[in-house]
Amino acid sequence: MRFRPEPSAVDLAIEEEHAPLALSNSQTEEKVKELLKCLRLTGENVLRVGDIFSQEMENGINDQPSTLLMENTYIPELLNGTETGDFLALDLGGTNFRILLISLQNENVVREEVMQYHISDDLRLGEGEVLFDYLADCLYDFVHKCGVASRRLVMGFTFSFPMHQRSLNCGVLIKWTKSFAATNVEGQDVVKMLGEAIKRKGGIDVDIIAILNDTTGTLLQGCRLDHECGIGLILGTGSNACYMERAERVSHWEAERHGEKEVIIDIEWGAFGDGGLLDFIRTDFDKQVDTNSLFANSFTFEKYISGKYLGELVRLILVNLANHRLIFNGILSKKMQQIDSFTTNYVSHVEKDNVDNTICETDTVLKGFNLDYNEDDIQVVKYVCEVVSIRAALLVSTCLAEVIKRMNRDSVTVAVDGSLYKHHPRFKHWMLKFVEILAPRHKFQLMLAEDGSGKGAGLAAAVAQRLRDSYCHNSK
Ligand code: ADP
Ligand code: MG
Repeated sequence: MRFRPEPSAVDLAIEEEHAPLALSNSQTEEKVKELLKCLRLTGENVLRVGDIFSQEMENGINDQPSTLLMENTYIPELLNGTETGDFLALDLGGTNFRILLISLQNENVVREEVMQYHISDDLRLGEGEVLFDYLADCLYDFVHKCGVASRRLVMGFTFSFPMHQRSLNCGVLIKWTKSFAATNVEGQDVVKMLGEAIKRKGGIDVDIIAILNDTTGTLLQGCRLDHECGIGLILGTGSNACYMERAERVSHWEAERHGEKEVIIDIEWGAFGDGGLLDFIRTDFDKQVDTNSLFANSFTFEKYISGKYLGELVRLILVNLANHRLIFNGILSKKMQQIDSFTTNYVSHVEKDNVDNTICETDTVLKGFNLDYNEDDIQVVKYVCEVVSIRAALLVSTCLAEVIKRMNRDSVTVAVDGSLYKHHPRFKHWMLKFVEILAPRHKFQLMLAEDGSGKGAGLAAAVAQRLRDSYCHNSK
């Protein structure tokens, strides 16, 4: 039986984190509270989200329709401490395109070379083959600069876009996202495309043995730091998680099997709830964020929790409150009316005031918006940022708690990366508290694991190399 706490216990934990709103005008105060009530989750709703998430994981892992992709990554083991050698890593899909060379000695990184390369709009939006030829050119440049061009090297490829993996080194792009839209790549195996481009270029000997995304890379990087690591979590522009699943529970397995006991499952939880599953917590503010977004009617969950959207959510609420003449004298500046002008970075600044019980950070943020504001307005902005942040942390914690319960280990470390987690002053605190309430029978730790998308690809290559050696050895 899945453990499920009493709703009232969850209510209490949530309530403790919300500071009361105290304005000089009590009528305004009541109205603001009333308009924001819809954003405050009840314990009952939190538990309902958890139930649905758990069911969606189960559906996805059984190849049934689900808003969670539950992708098999074909990585059956994490690091075991013996990984030694030089490994290349290519990281595409984050803010920058990077190539790395990492030297491992018993899983410790003893040397690391990194270079960033610029990808022009023409390349990102042009013909796919041209883009991959450029990646091969950069790789050629990199291995020569590092003085390893004469050697045969294995490489891991971090490709942070939705893909369908058929094996450890086969990843079919489902759909470009972010700022990429190169033609003739969707539906193709990007490992094959890159391999062919490397061949066309000639003069280097690079074998791409693993493809992964940033979330899986974060789990591998976390494992290097702590062998109890079993979950990878991203809280940045977007959000996603992966975890070690028992192999016998995984029905989708296209590649040859070698008696794997476990495998990393990439949950792809950004689109959790698409199609109406989470409508019972959806507010008009959420609908507006969705309508204004590049990908309307999709990435429902990400729109509640990730860095790309939290600031915009706060802005839409503030605009609404001003339209009700509850703040800023009812007058909005041009900047405040601009989509995405209130970034999640600002939410972190305002939240710092909530922690320190000051107003200086909020004051600085609001100054940049050319608004007419008073002390009460500052309190309202602080309140809005808190409500939106707590809801996001609660939803992340709810799903994380379900993953932890599903794994059912005595103790598990969660490797986390992403600017929202790193810079929001209270996110970690809330996650520790809420997950503890929702999954009290399991010990867990949250650990920052940076640069999983870079180093993680090198680590994946190292694990893949070790596995390949052992399969060869066993078949002899
Ligand atoms: P990526 O997700 O592209 O790999 P990051 O993990 O650095 O990169 O996340 C960047 C995102 O994090 C930005 O798009 C922004 O939404 C959010 N962000 C940036 N700075 C902060 C901050 N100080 N506090 C909260 N969120 C932030
Ligand atoms: Mg990242």
